[in-house]
Amino acid sequence: MAEFDLIERYFNFHYDFSSDLAKTSSKNSNKPQVVKGIGDDCAIFEIPEKHQLVTSTDTLVDGVHFFSDLQPDLIAHKALAANVSDLAAMGAKPLAFTLSISLPDVSEDWLKGFSEGLKRASELFKVPLVGGDTTQGPLNINITAYGSVKKGRLLLRDKAQINDDIWVTGFLGEAAAALDLEDKALESKALSGQKKLTDAEQALWNALTQPIPPLTFAGKLTKLSSCGLDISDGLMADLGHILKKSECGATVMVESLPVSDALVEVVGMEQAQQFALNGGDDYQLCFTTSSKHRNKVLNLAEKHGVNVSRVGSIQPEDVSIQLHGKPFTSNRASWQHFYKD
Ligand code: ADP
Ligand code: MG
Repeated sequence: MAEFDLIERYFNFHYDFSSDLAKTSSKNSNKPQVVKGIGDDCAIFEIPEKHQLVTSTDTLVDGVHFFSDLQPDLIAHKALAANVSDLAAMGAKPLAFTLSISLPDVSEDWLKGFSEGLKRASELFKVPLVGGDTTQGPLNINITAYGSVKKGRLLLRDKAQINDDIWVTGFLGEAAAALDLEDKALESKALSGQKKLTDAEQALWNALTQPIPPLTFAGKLTKLSSCGLDISDGLMADLGHILKKSECGATVMVESLPVSDALVEVVGMEQAQQFALNGGDDYQLCFTTSSKHRNKVLNLAEKHGVNVSRVGSIQPEDVSIQLHGKPFTSNRASWQHFYKD
């Protein structure tokens, strides 16, 4: 198939941004405004007045970030989710994204699946594909996402203040547990469809393959917080980035970590807490706010249907992980490198 036909057939989407997620932000003056999408030398889109452009890029490589036997629609979802998660991490609203893809050979089935998954995810996150590049080579997927923030209203890593509350969104540890269970054949069970996954195993698998970053919530959070990031390497590793940049320490209360019933059912409470602390691939937010905003955070989260948990507080120095006030030994100490070096 000629390159032009391929782009036209699989990447020149016609969108329906009237999905449920889109509706929740219908009053939004920051609606994506694509002046020119796919088909010219460059894409053009409007940035809302008094806003700044925010951009982030990520590459997924076959065999490193995913295995190509994973369903192509799931690969597409994850690639876009990881990118919009970085926008959420800044409190930015998505404007558009581009896709540069290198494909080993053109399997129509694979492309169809990938294209369907990508279109679904871009409608879910309400972010249009405005351009890209298509080449032949080892499977490699690069997405660049563009978003906007109102000038100065964003979530940064160096803005934590002593005594701030530390919050996280969603549930943590499910994706990491799913990866860990891969050895125990969860993935092959999920892929082959031979053995049915239990509901709880399926929930973990969904968390790994179809993360949904809390984008709309993140965009509103900048009214209450100026410090946050997304949890992609595990809570302690990522919180470590905030502590290092903000030059402070923290206390983390393990009993307050959001572990789902599914995670506890599959791995037990103790392992669930370990995965929540040190897992990864969560694509949820960790943010800090003044304790005077506690109720406002809870109200905002409820309004957006997002689960939030207050998991600790910012301290002048040192990191203390506690379970009901007693020191808790974490399985992995890798985060300490981030904090101490
Ligand atoms: P050029 O030679 O100017 O780089 P291309 O032939 O690479 O143009 O691309 C033609 C058009 O298709 C451009 O608008 C480009 O952004 C778009 N495009 C190419 N590949 C993709 C892709 N994988 N996804 C989305 N748009 C693409
Ligand atoms: Mg090109």
